[in-house]
Amino acid sequence: MKRKLLVIGSGGREHAISKKLLQSPLVERVYCLPGNAGMELDNIQLVKGSETDKQFIIEFCQKKQIDWVFVGPEVPLIDGLVDYLESKGIKVFGPKKHAAIIEGSKDFSKQLMVKYEIPTANYQTFTNRECALDYLATQTLPIVIKADGLAAGKGVVIAQTMDEAKQAIDDNLLNNVFDSEEPKIVIEEFLVGKEFSLLSFVGNSFVYPMVVAKDHKAIFDGDKGPNTGGMGVYSPVPYVTDTIYQEAVSSIVYPTVEAMKAEGRDFQGILYTGLILTNDGPKVIEYNARFGDPETQVLLERLETDLVEVIESIFDDKTIEVSWKKEGFDLGVVVSAKGYPESYEKGKTLNIDTTNKKVSLFFAGVTSKNDSLVSNGGRVFMAESSGATLEEARQKVYGWLSEQPLTDFYYRTDIGK
Ligand code: AMP
Repeated sequence: MKRKLLVIGSGGREHAISKKLLQSPLVERVYCLPGNAGMELDNIQLVKGSETDKQFIIEFCQKKQIDWVFVGPEVPLIDGLVDYLESKGIKVFGPKKHAAIIEGSKDFSKQLMVKYEIPTANYQTFTNRECALDYLATQTLPIVIKADGLAAGKGVVIAQTMDEAKQAIDDNLLNNVFDSEEPKIVIEEFLVGKEFSLLSFVGNSFVYPMVVAKDHKAIFDGDKGPNTGGMGVYSPVPYVTDTIYQEAVSSIVYPTVEAMKAEGRDFQGILYTGLILTNDGPKVIEYNARFGDPETQVLLERLETDLVEVIESIFDDKTIEVSWKKEGFDLGVVVSAKGYPESYEKGKTLNIDTTNKKVSLFFAGVTSKNDSLVSNGGRVFMAESSGATLEEARQKVYGWLSEQPLTDFYYRTDIGK
């Protein structure tokens, strides 16, 4: 019987996941809740509703006889959607609440890394402002201040001056700008090195590390300006050699999965390790309990094995060979609203050629109006392509972008350069 699947989420990541699932010969239909209007171009069926409305999701799954659910974003994972669906007998791919905490609390993840000797930056956790300020006075600059909980990508400050660091401490511990129940911060050593993302499919008995990707979070060329959700990405990453990759897998990925088991918090789903290549080898910058956006859009283009088979092998606890494109590169450039990540306008009509064969399109902040796609968020869509070299992939994506009427929009011009 062909599967009917439900993907939870609405971004470019969920577009990529839904599209990949729908390519499987095992699948009849993919619903995405709430999805976005751009996904309909790929025959993904949108479901109106909220990704944290557990009761509605259950009723939808029962009514449509959904075979299993894929949860894309962190908020419903940390909110316990997986636990709830499983308690109602619905199969779901993603970590339970007690495992998603690896992303939900920086303090938890730092304690885990120290306890299990997983390489990461030195740190201390504070709930008291005076203690945090005293500790800060003993540290050197730059210094990293992180809000403990989810902060929609805005919780990390790399302070270049003591005043900036104090401001970040006050924002959290005095003014509680992230509206946290118990404001807490991690003050962490600044690590120097090149970053990369290593994601893994994690099941009960098996871990399948993926190929690596590099995302660019800063808004402007040259990695300048404030951080965003991610403005561009490519895979694989030339500076991550086989040796470094093996070291990252054996010193970080496997020990993290084992550590979560030892803590009674078995992790099933996608484990994202954000890594930095220091002079002492790769170290962890952050964990996520799900696919990254924009990494997913290039990683799934490189996955050769049927994604449905990979996930079902994890459900069944059976081993599978997961294979990836061995040649060439994939690269994606995100097109955003002008002004993002600060204030920006919505409602700009998107007149791009959506039927072209030169690039794959992954939509995010879009909605439909009078049969046209119009912008509805900061990151609007990604154009993605592959090439024998990084430069060839780059030329294809930027060549196509230059032919589109995008004067109302913005994108970086140096991804993969
Ligand atoms: P995070 O949300 O923890 O990934 O942090 C956002 C970004 O801040 C990362 O992608 C890094 O570029 C940077 N960052 C975070 N922690 C550190 C650190 N300890 N040293 C250097 N850069 C960091």
